[in-house]
Amino acid sequence: MAKKKVAIIGAGPSGLAQLRAFQSAAKNGEDIPEIVCFEKQSDWGGLWNYTWRTGVDASGEPCHGSMYRYLWSNGPKEGLEFADYTFDEHFGKEIASYPPRAVLFDYIKGRVEKAGVRDWIRFNNIVRDVHYNDDTGMFTVTARDTVKDAETVEDYDHVIVASGHFSTPNVPYYPGFESFNGRVLHAHDFRDAREFAGKDILILGTSYSAEDIGSQCWKYGAKSITVAHRTAPMGYDWPDNWQEVPALVKVEGKTAYFKDGTSKDVDAIILCTGYRHHFNFLPDDLRLKTANRLAAADLYKGVVWTKNPKMFYLGMQDQWFTFNMFDAQAWWVRDCIMGKIALPDQATMEADPKRREAEEDAIEDDYGAIRYQGAYVQELIDETDYPSFDVEAANQAFFEWKKHKKKNIMEFRNHGYTSPMTGKKAPPHHTPWKDALDDSLESYLQT
Ligand SMILES: Cc1cc2nc3c(=O)[nH]c(=O)nc-3n(C[C@H](O)[C@H](O)[C@H](O)COP(=O)(O)OP(=O)(O)OC[C@H]3O[C@@H](n4cnc5c(N)ncnc54)[C@H](O)[C@@H]3O)c2cc1C
Repeated sequence: MAKKKVAIIGAGPSGLAQLRAFQSAAKNGEDIPEIVCFEKQSDWGGLWNYTWRTGVDASGEPCHGSMYRYLWSNGPKEGLEFADYTFDEHFGKEIASYPPRAVLFDYIKGRVEKAGVRDWIRFNNIVRDVHYNDDTGMFTVTARDTVKDAETVEDYDHVIVASGHFSTPNVPYYPGFESFNGRVLHAHDFRDAREFAGKDILILGTSYSAEDIGSQCWKYGAKSITVAHRTAPMGYDWPDNWQEVPALVKVEGKTAYFKDGTSKDVDAIILCTGYRHHFNFLPDDLRLKTANRLAAADLYKGVVWTKNPKMFYLGMQDQWFTFNMFDAQAWWVRDCIMGKIALPDQATMEADPKRREAEEDAIEDDYGAIRYQGAYVQELIDETDYPSFDVEAANQAFFEWKKHKKKNIMEFRNHGYTSPMTGKKAPPHHTPWKDALDDSLESYLQT
């Protein structure tokens, strides 16, 4: 019988988890399908593969990158550690708990280099179209190699969408934006906080991006930071030159007017207003339409597209857990494709995301949300041979992180937590985060 063919779209942490999952089965002597991973960028790592570019990439495609210089992990590394490849194994020692982007990129690469899966990836290949053929029961995947400027059209038994959902900005409009005498940009296009040194910044939103981009601007010398919220302020004990104000109403010249009647002259407006799940390569019958939430719509077990269960999505949830959750999903999807996990009937599959949504809706606070996602990770790893790990210890790292943020938002990154994988406690970083201006791998690993 011919081998099954599986297309994976994206070689970020989710797609790489899928490659590692199949490779680990092959290493155990199992007969795995033929795998092709399409990656539109020239390297792997997804968002962690930093680009200075904004707007369009070298091929004229929308730039995938949303990360910026000086980005340090916004949650403890103990919450994202791979169970099959610890930080200790990669770096040869325990490192501090909030690594900068370059350090995490190195860690992500280390595991897949060890696994030897780079040859499964077609870099510079953007998937343009996927459709399902009822007659053949196969998906036709059309991709363009942007370097060779050549198109491929191939059939696959399964498609796994791992293209991420933090790249297509959600951009609100406020009266006066078009004539604002300064720069208006979305967080997706923010690259370097030094650009805003000495400037008065207005940030819209209360997400991680608002908190972190504001903190970066503060760290690298912004004159003032004003954050406008639509529902509730973030409420941290901010530095003196940082204020939270009600929603923006309009802009005139350089002046921003807020809902409570106050105003502020600002040099730049940064829209930290979130991202949209956007799959321009998928037709309506295959395209996930979901809010950014813990229980994504229409996905059985958070991964199987209920409207066509030969298709899968990875990493589409809002995320407390990241890398090890993508692993849990990838191992589960692998076993489903390889026939080790059987899918239930259609009605059961459709009921599953609805039940998860209802359970999520009943969550009362962030602690409950962390527990909820931890339980989801546990559920998946219990059903595969992904190395079991102490999910409760990861929850605890997140809980401590939350408390440390509340205590001092500019100092939480100076704390260390216990690895759920090795049981070892991370050492403190050699320099407090606010003084550590060099975010290179070399600088971070110095002792
Ligand atoms: C600013 C920012 C900061 C973050 N900080 C953290 C953090 O500190 N800690 C943490 O754990 N998580 C963080 N995250 C969350 C992040 O989502 C995950 O860590 C992780 O990158 C998600 O992996 P992914 O593979 O699902 O998606 P991505 O990393 O987005 O990777 C998707 C890949 O798919 C490729 N692709 C997209 N479309 C196509 C196509 N049509 N054809 C071919 N390839 C395609 C892209 O080029 C990309 O390589 C952050 C996210 C953002 C935006």
